[in-house]
Amino acid sequence: MNDFTQLLEDLDGLLVTHPANVRYLSGFPHAEDAWLWLDAGGPLLLASPLYQNDLEAAGLPHLLGRPEAWPRLLAGRARGRVGFEAGRLPYATARRLGEALPGAELVPTQGRVEALRVRKRPEEVERIRRAMAIAREAYLEAQPRVRPGVPEIEVAAWLECGMRQRGAEGRAFPTIVASGENGAFPHAGAGPKALAEGELVTLDFGARHAGYHSDVTRTLALGEVPPQRRRLLAAVEAALEAAMARLGPGVPLAEPDRAARAVLEAEGLLAHYPHALGHGVGLEVHEAPRLSHRSPGVLEPGMVVTVEPGVYVPGLGGARIEELVWITEEGYQVLSAGM
Ligand code: ZN
Ligand code: ZN
Repeated sequence: MNDFTQLLEDLDGLLVTHPANVRYLSGFPHAEDAWLWLDAGGPLLLASPLYQNDLEAAGLPHLLGRPEAWPRLLAGRARGRVGFEAGRLPYATARRLGEALPGAELVPTQGRVEALRVRKRPEEVERIRRAMAIAREAYLEAQPRVRPGVPEIEVAAWLECGMRQRGAEGRAFPTIVASGENGAFPHAGAGPKALAEGELVTLDFGARHAGYHSDVTRTLALGEVPPQRRRLLAAVEAALEAAMARLGPGVPLAEPDRAARAVLEAEGLLAHYPHALGHGVGLEVHEAPRLSHRSPGVLEPGMVVTVEPGVYVPGLGGARIEELVWITEEGYQVLSAGM
């Protein structure tokens, strides 16, 4: 495990309870069942005795106990100013912690580990690249079978099965297959409705590999699509192109979204674009940074982000295209290319 004591800053200890942060700091694959304690002595995992073998095999320093006992396990170590992740600790657990550590001052913290996770290390990018390759291959196999008459849920099953067959730990999130009027809901799931001639169908999916995620969206036109629907897809393609032209290290995070919004505004579709342009992807499907026209900050080398303009028109349908992009020192690489 790396030494992450720089995270302490003004604290004597930091309790990390958010699974993605625990995994980031320790590499422990069962991070959803563990806490990480960090003090000047370095990191220490708290986990169930079920994981004793895994922890010893990985050489990770640890204390074992049932989750209810973890606050008491810290009692000998946690003193002074003890930080905890304010957004990631249930109220009941926070109370137990306070009771177990009467001499400590509990200090709420926000986003400390997340700030480190924004810029991916090369080995993290490789895991995301592999998660993306798995999703791409599943899509390329399923795509020729996406035709009128097939239920949405069956298309979702093909994608998810294809990703598992290629070694995914699982899907990154519940696969979206939204056809026709269902496409007007940005987070529609996949239901029994059959795809129909003349519709647009939006496929939004991704795989998880070694804890890391991919996230990609394609919108397909089924047969002869009437012009008012084709127009939605063409506008999203133009917005995507405008946004991608503004990507690169040092570019304000707000700028690609501004470019996409300008295109959709000119098309009279801005009112139908209800979300931000994109988000970071890594140990979580949605993580920092957020690519919105309101975001402060700039794109930095090592960031992996989505670019996903979409429009959703009730009664007509919707279209979204999502690329997964790695910002590099020189520019960027489209991880979702070739599909
Ligand atoms: Zn997506
Ligand atoms: Zn996304």
